[in-house]
Amino acid sequence: SLSLSSLVAYDAAAAGHDGILLDPTGDLIIKPCTAAEVSFYEASVSAHPEFAELMPTFMGTLRLGVAETPVSEAKLPADQTSALPLPNAVLVNSIPDDRNPSPEFVKGKKIDSETSIVLENIASPFTKPCILDVKLGARLWDDAVKPEKRAKLDLLAAETTSKSLGFRIAGMRVWRAHEKDFKVYDKLYGRQLTEENVLEGFKAFLDRERGSTNVPALASLDDAELAALARGLADRVTEIRNVYEKEEIRAYSASLLFVYEGNPVAFRKTLDAATLYRNTPDGVSPDEPSDLNSGEDEEESDEDGVPPRVFDIRLIDFAHATWRPGQGPDENVLHGMRNLEKTLRELVSLLEGAD
Ligand code: ADP
Ligand code: MN
Repeated sequence: SLSLSSLVAYDAAAAGHDGILLDPTGDLIIKPCTAAEVSFYEASVSAHPEFAELMPTFMGTLRLGVAETPVSEAKLPADQTSALPLPNAVLVNSIPDDRNPSPEFVKGKKIDSETSIVLENIASPFTKPCILDVKLGARLWDDAVKPEKRAKLDLLAAETTSKSLGFRIAGMRVWRAHEKDFKVYDKLYGRQLTEENVLEGFKAFLDRERGSTNVPALASLDDAELAALARGLADRVTEIRNVYEKEEIRAYSASLLFVYEGNPVAFRKTLDAATLYRNTPDGVSPDEPSDLNSGEDEEESDEDGVPPRVFDIRLIDFAHATWRPGQGPDENVLHGMRNLEKTLRELVSLLEGAD
């Protein structure tokens, strides 16, 4: 169950606002959010299960802040007092389902605070998570936005690949195995990329910028491994786009969040385990071609229910997203996804030609 007694600041966000917290296990992200984002998650989980699979699992919402009186002294129904979380965090809502343990449900305490959303941390399965936030769409504002802000966002789009390609790199964190450190690319890095050189950004995400330095072969992922990874990423974006095409959504300033295992030892171990999994009777057919995105839609293993994988991609950031029944597909986002697929396929060709 969810223990909220020692939330810690999350210092590995690839982009966006400050203020993200982690639960003590690191498996949950607690992010300050708007009511619109909560509504979008709730509507997705309850009415659009296939789309909800593309998002981080939604665990509920929290109100964070300093309680006027400690929660332990608050007048709570007797049957809920055993489920008290810490004094400054109260879980006010949750949608548990079969896949997820139900966090403690506590209510009845008014706290002077803002609402946060509790989500599965997409980076937590990885030992050295390399993270890329790709912001989607040429239009980045919703109808509620004031004209000045609109103009500002249109200018930002026009000056970046947002307008030309329908996506831009909003930020990255890349584990550089040979340097034993993360390299951080801030929002300005992605803003200066152009339609012509945006591929450089994705090469940097795979830490393929090092050129022919004297990096020991085993200390980093090699070109064949990176090519397989790039192919897995491209294929997954195509799968996501295929689902998104069928949905009637308008999402402005949403992102695709990419994460892969940057630790070459863990990467190889996971791939070996995935191959093993595919070859067990309960796993996927051994005839299945090698696929880095293993197990995404397959049967679950008997062991822990989660087949190993070396990367994950999810749609995130729904502060300006709404379901729009009857309005057709979200071409603003789809255009960006299609160009992103093209760029990722170029990356695959480049890496496959490198050997
Ligand atoms: P903002 O409105 O601040 O842009 P986002 O939802 O885009 O909020 O989150 C900002 C950053 O936090 C993302 O770029 C990503 O690095 C990290 N993040 C957000 N949600 C998750 C998640 N569920 N799992 C892992 N990282 C996340
Ligand atoms: Mn964001």
